[in-house]
Amino acid sequence: MSAASAERTCPCGGRPEGATLAACCGPYLAGEAWPPEPEAVMRSRYTAYATGDADHVFRTWHPATRPSEVDLDPAIRWTGLDVLSASGDDTEGTVEFAAHWLSGDGAARQRGGDA
Ligand SMILES: [Zn+2]
Repeated sequence: MSAASAERTCPCGGRPEGATLAACCGPYLAGEAWPPEPEAVMRSRYTAYATGDADHVFRTWHPATRPSEVDLDPAIRWTGLDVLSASGDDTEGTVEFAAHWLSGDGAARQRGGDA
């Protein structure tokens, strides 16, 4: 990760809003820290998709449901993340979110919950 990219606003929008990648999801993607609560896990997963970090997507995926290998689609451009609600203060919590992206098929949006 270059210094320049670490100083831009985190792809997840930043927490608090506008926080840089280095101050937000960067340490989680680098494996220097583990996201402390479900919202941070979900934000770091979004950021991993947005920055093409398949390793982080894989290691934050629940072992019961993750595929043997994670393939990210380079044609998808991740355009934003909205955290709608979050509860829980450890790994057992729920996050409601809407992720936005652009692909060859146009704009798309996924709304979901992450346990
Ligand atoms: Zn972030």
